[in-house]
Amino acid sequence: MHWANVQLLRPDLAVSSGVARSVREDVLGERRIDDPIEVSAVARLFACVLRRTSSEDLACCGVSGLLRPLRESPSRFEILYPTGQARTRQRFTVAHELGHTFFFDRAVSPPSRLSPHGGQAEERFCDLFASELLVPRSAIRRPLDARRCLEAAAHFFVSPQVVALRAVRARLFPYRAMMGVALLGKPSAPEALAPRISWVVSERGTWVPLAARLKQFSGLEEIMELSDQTVVRTVNLGSCRGAYEHAIAVCGRQIVLALRPAGSPLRTAMRGPAAAGVRCNPVT
Ligand SMILES: [Zn+2]
Repeated sequence: MHWANVQLLRPDLAVSSGVARSVREDVLGERRIDDPIEVSAVARLFACVLRRTSSEDLACCGVSGLLRPLRESPSRFEILYPTGQARTRQRFTVAHELGHTFFFDRAVSPPSRLSPHGGQAEERFCDLFASELLVPRSAIRRPLDARRCLEAAAHFFVSPQVVALRAVRARLFPYRAMMGVALLGKPSAPEALAPRISWVVSERGTWVPLAARLKQFSGLEEIMELSDQTVVRTVNLGSCRGAYEHAIAVCGRQIVLALRPAGSPLRTAMRGPAAAGVRCNPVT
């Protein structure tokens, strides 16, 4: 099955990864399969033009990106993505929108949907397609730690959150939770700046609230000084309570913190169905 001929009536997660791998091979060749991919090259193959627009234009539609079929154009679609996003986020947005093209009949002009929008299932399909396109599963070979999460994110030019999600899916996520840390306010008090959780990827059954303050540290400076160290601190973060081992990695403004109960054996792989029950906020 060649990816260019794939037209889908329903979102099927098993198909999503396979198609994304085929696209990577087409763009990069098998020998460079672990290289970062340029989403604009994929967009050209998909006959999509990329167009930046203001975040406000898209926010009023309640979306972070938009795929629009085109009439009377050599391109089949245009993908709108916001100027205000970080470049890594823009790449994920474009890759996600490319995933939606599989649900259109591309032989007609303008392309028309093969079936009604598949709701959350189609969104998950597109997220998985984008993740595999940007970070191939083959790149996650060992249990992910905080430092390797940052290194892989820099190599593939994605958010560390995307890498953490890939590790969960590959069953190579040995923590209760991995999170980004930044100096943030909280929604009810934007001026209350403190080290807070900017994104979370957690294993099944673990809940960690976004924007929670990391009270176990005196401030952002202390966290940054602990880069590449593992410390045990008492936490009260959602369902993580008690003594937890904190593995910390810092690279520039990116901070990743990985949590697991102190004294528990370090697992080398997750049990159970991959990615089942994984919680995360929308990819940042
Ligand atoms: Zn979507």
